[in-house]
Amino acid sequence: MAPQFNNSYVQLPERFFARQAPVPVADPALIRVNHELAELLGIDPAWLESDEGINTIAGNHVPVGAEPIATVYAGHQFGSFNPRLGDGRAILLGEVIGNDGERYDVQLKGSGITPYSRNGDGRAPLGPILREYLVSEAMAALGVATSRTLAAVTTGEGVYREQRLPGGVLIRVARSHIRIGTFQYFASTQDLDGLQLLIDHVIARHYPAVLDADNPALSLFEKVSQQLATLVAHWQSVGFIHGVMNTDNMLLSGETIDFGPCAFMDGYDSAAVYSSIDHGSRYAYRNQPAITQWNLACLGQSLLPFIADDETEATTAAQVVLNAFPEFYLNAYFERMRDKFGLSETQEEDEALMQEFLDLLETGRHDFTLAFRRLADISADGDEVAALFTFPESFNSWIERWQQRCAQESVDAAQRQAQMRSTNPAFIARNHLVEQAIAEAYAGDFSFFHRLHERLQQPFVYAAGDALLATPPKPHEIVQQTFCGT
Ligand code: AMP
Ligand code: MG
Repeated sequence: MAPQFNNSYVQLPERFFARQAPVPVADPALIRVNHELAELLGIDPAWLESDEGINTIAGNHVPVGAEPIATVYAGHQFGSFNPRLGDGRAILLGEVIGNDGERYDVQLKGSGITPYSRNGDGRAPLGPILREYLVSEAMAALGVATSRTLAAVTTGEGVYREQRLPGGVLIRVARSHIRIGTFQYFASTQDLDGLQLLIDHVIARHYPAVLDADNPALSLFEKVSQQLATLVAHWQSVGFIHGVMNTDNMLLSGETIDFGPCAFMDGYDSAAVYSSIDHGSRYAYRNQPAITQWNLACLGQSLLPFIADDETEATTAAQVVLNAFPEFYLNAYFERMRDKFGLSETQEEDEALMQEFLDLLETGRHDFTLAFRRLADISADGDEVAALFTFPESFNSWIERWQQRCAQESVDAAQRQAQMRSTNPAFIARNHLVEQAIAEAYAGDFSFFHRLHERLQQPFVYAAGDALLATPPKPHEIVQQTFCGT
């Protein structure tokens, strides 16, 4: 069955978007369909794999009920405000209601120019399409709130960057694609009626409980702050570096979006930056929480006229919410970290103990993921990753103190180990493996892409046969930089 569309964003006034059909491509060929996600959305995976389905993914066919639009938004890019961005290479086909009762956007990415393309071609090379497929679905399997990938095709056409590259299109699925930058667009054009409609839409769609609040706009701001704090705490706990946390890349739904220059850290380095365009290290790993707060300040600014008539009063109220962010974030972060360290109870020295471990990791740039997985090994008898990682002597006294701390817990060692293995992945989407999958696909062979994707669907289950996919890069394999997905 094709998607059963049920569209709401297109009901908003025409100034929220431009009606824009996808631009057809020469010769689409299927890369992959996400069966599990298709089923959640009530779409038959076999239909997606049919000629009509493939042509839909490619943008050559617009299915019944789709009302294709490109949405408008603004945003701060690396700190400077751009008053008009918008979907320059994406087209929202429409929305569907999933089997879970939730509403989902079904959006094409790489589907040709729109009124918001500016100087761009509206297209995406195959590499960024595969990167987004692998990393978004790896994040979903880790349990991180994220936009997802329903399917991808090659286009049979070239995309011209520094060289000619094969093109691709993917279908992105998210609870919505409404960004902080969408609010900024209506605020900066002083379209208060539009802003009110947008607030109502987001509340109805994502935060219905806020409807009953005394001050819905303020309450919305608080809920979004908490959602994004929770999200970024999750990123930190798995070593995910987003790379381009511009306000147009932060969703009100609290899901991860835009897998351009993103990366999972290998060796622990709190200052890690991968993006080739992030010259000032604005979006370094350790800056992600503070940048989230900065982005939230932009959202708060846009909401001020709806928080109170008096500007000073509105600013003071918004500032209270913003000031609560660090504590809310730290609570969310330490909750995740306690899980990673196998601690179910809270003691005063825990945060210092955890920080000391990170400091030791950082001193030797030891592998973030394998170090935690190895800790799970030694929390009871186990040697899953011993062949890949063991702690150097410098950790001895720390491990002793951690074991003493664990002995004070009421859960037993076997339970602790099971819990640690379910929160500390063995497999992450390591940069060098993602790059290998892309390079082989450019040479025409997608088998490693599929193998890696399938492995990343079960990140918490160690498989000795796939040890290579859990292994950090050798020095010559380290990918220092990732590039923007444009
Ligand atoms: P991003 O850096 O991916 O968040 O994109 C920033 C802005 O540039 C968004 O408005 C995108 O739609 C637009 N954009 C990025 N790549 C392209 C492209 N190839 N063609 C047209 N617009 C693009
Ligand atoms: Mg973007």
